[in-house]
Amino acid sequence: MIIVLKPGVTREQVDQFSADLESRNGVKVNAWYGEHSTVLGLLGDTAAVDIESIQAQDMVESVKRVQEPYKKSNRKFHPDDTVIDLGNGSVLGGGKLAIIAGPCSVENESQIADIAADVKESGAAFLRGGAFKPRTSPYAFQGLRASGLELLRHARQKTGLPIVTEIMSPAHLVLFEDVDIIQVGARNMQNFELLKELGKCDKPILLKRGLANTIEELLMSAEYIMAAGNDQVILCERGIRTFETMTRNTLDISAVPILKKHSHLPVVVDPSHASGHSWLVEPLAMAAIAAGADGLIIEVHNDPPHALSDGAQSVTPDQFRRISARIGEVVGVFGKELSARTDR
Ligand code: PEP
Ligand code: MN
Repeated sequence: MIIVLKPGVTREQVDQFSADLESRNGVKVNAWYGEHSTVLGLLGDTAAVDIESIQAQDMVESVKRVQEPYKKSNRKFHPDDTVIDLGNGSVLGGGKLAIIAGPCSVENESQIADIAADVKESGAAFLRGGAFKPRTSPYAFQGLRASGLELLRHARQKTGLPIVTEIMSPAHLVLFEDVDIIQVGARNMQNFELLKELGKCDKPILLKRGLANTIEELLMSAEYIMAAGNDQVILCERGIRTFETMTRNTLDISAVPILKKHSHLPVVVDPSHASGHSWLVEPLAMAAIAAGADGLIIEVHNDPPHALSDGAQSVTPDQFRRISARIGEVVGVFGKELSARTDR
């Protein structure tokens, strides 16, 4: 971290400020005295240094971080890819590309069971389905809640597919004890109390990027989970809000190589929420693979026009089969292998 001091600051003030920074933050401070201003360089672990309180000092002109504020998710300190392996071929990261597929919402027993069987047959390695739904309107379908989780467990029992489902409140954690991967939705990416609780869990967390959050903010949210003790985080780019109206969100495809460069965590792309249109799912999925994604999360519904949520962006099981086959054809070109279930 570099701190530029205002002109006219005395040596005594610099010494006092430096000593204070060192004792408060456990860093080493070096000072360079120029003709017009003094520059301080902070060496050591500056992740916990409060940049705003430094900025607030009268003698400070400007402050700049030269090291990323995220540590545990940073590739610099962990060069190897993190791999999430739930067994029987359900692997994410480390050269494997996994497809997570299923409906936006779990609606009833046959809906989730039928879709689960279909997506497994077509090559999905994980089953998704929302039981607790974050809806913009309080009058919209809110999900089957605990009974939705029960239906997901049935579908897992029948297919063997690990289940991925969204949590909205730390109070619901007890219900998620045997969920395989807990999803944090875009709207909760900065629900820090939830992230801290998930940091105490011993299971992978699929963390979606917020609608209006930067890539660094996504990494800092991953850092919350990891700092609390859980290293198994999967990052998800699901599109961000822009001025564009042709799509529900704008898929920030550059987030994929950027996240892969800066972090060792697996990166998944959600072409369904990114686009809002089922016909765009395939091209965006292709783009995601070309950009280096480790996985795709795709909404599949057996009757999209009557889906209780996100019908317009849901592909049918037949469409999913074709998309999955195409993914299988291209994945090798980008140096990856499709995660394939061994129990099919
Ligand atoms: C979902 O996965 O159905 C969902 C609500 O996603 P997001 O949080 O990305 O909007
Ligand atoms: Mn959805």
